[in-house]
Amino acid sequence: MDLVFATNNLNKLQELQSLLNNSINLKSLQDIACQEDIPETGSTLEANASQKAKFIYEKYGVNCFADDTGLEVEALNDEPGVYSARYAGEEKNAEKNMLKVLEKLSGIENRKAKFRTVISLILDGKEQRFEGQVDGVILFEKRGNEGFGYDPIFMPDGFEVSFAEMSIEEKNKISHRGRATQKLISYLKELSHE
Ligand code: IMP
Repeated sequence: MDLVFATNNLNKLQELQSLLNNSINLKSLQDIACQEDIPETGSTLEANASQKAKFIYEKYGVNCFADDTGLEVEALNDEPGVYSARYAGEEKNAEKNMLKVLEKLSGIENRKAKFRTVISLILDGKEQRFEGQVDGVILFEKRGNEGFGYDPIFMPDGFEVSFAEMSIEEKNKISHRGRATQKLISYLKELSHE
């Protein structure tokens, strides 16, 4: 089955490709010649994922899915959440975003945080949602060079390393996006066996 992943983030495409098997032919926005900015104006991860998937489905008429992810820090009332990409400004700078989280948490003992991913899948006009979550803590300083975004300051529960100190395969197994994607894949596999 051909399926478009409505994202311009090459890191995410790369991560996802390593999780998918042959039954799904993953296509990028480039493959459908979509070069426009997809609107993302919702105030929840759910609303944003839906908005992006619906935009592609309605405009290009292809089966597709979109995801939205946020880092939710307990002591910051679940900030940055839906604003994770532009937490420290419109330039979407990962270094500045991490610094802002670290500064806001300075002197705060509760370091609990989680990444949450919501995927909205639209098949033949019908929407289905999948969610993945990973619990962890915000470190006191950056560690590691792998990954992207907030990876250097996030350590998942049960591990002694940050996401940025894990290989992409290790991270995929336990990550928010990995878990949401596994649910999506199981659903698609069940459909193809019906
Ligand atoms: P998006 O909705 O997947 O584009 O994610 C929004 C923002 O959350 C990104 O710009 C990153 O700052 C952050 N983010 C998403 N996924 C990850 C991840 O796996 N590790 C670290 N940061 C992430």
